[in-house]
Parts: sequence; C-alpha cells; structure tokens
Amino acid sequence: MATYEYRCQRDGSFDTILPIGTAGMSTHCPSCGGRAVRVFSTPGLVRTPTALRQAVDRAERSAETPDVVSRVPGGRPVRRSRHPAHARLPRW
Ligand SMILES: [Zn+2]
Repeated sequence: MATYEYRCQRDGSFDTILPIGTAGMSTHCPSCGGRAVRVFSTPGLVRTPTALRQAVDRAERSAETPDVVSRVPGGRPVRRSRHPAHARLPRW
C-alpha cells in the first residue's frame, strides 16, 4: 500500500491509500465527487515539519563542518577543574 496525493480544484489536496501501482492520474474527490488530479511530490519531504527538517539539516551540516566556538554559549562562566592533570591540558 502507498499513499497518493490528489488535488481537487475546489477542495484542495487529499491523500488516498492504494496498492502500489494502482493509482490513476485522476480520481473522484471525497468531498464534492468532482475530478481530482494526481499530484507528484517527493515522499517524506513535503510532510516533514519545518522545525524537524531544520534540525535534521543542522545535524547533518554539523557532522560535515561543525561550528567552531571560542567561548561557552550563553555567557556562563567557565568552571576550571582543580585536578592537577587538567592543568597540563592546553588552554585557548
Ligand atoms: Zn472536491
């Protein structure tokens, strides 16, 4: 089964679930019974909420070219460790 999108001139878009390969180029609108034409769209991208898509894009971009920060975001003071081994770590 697959979800196919159709658009009625009067009522707008609606989805129909049909077996794969059986969707025609047009169907009857469930609201008005008029002719609705099939809409071809990219599966999964159209219905992804904008905030989620932006978060995924940001995560993928960060994996390739992570943002470099020079200070702690938010302006909080940096807590320095008092452990002697940490004193030998490089500072920036
Ligand atoms: Zn309609």
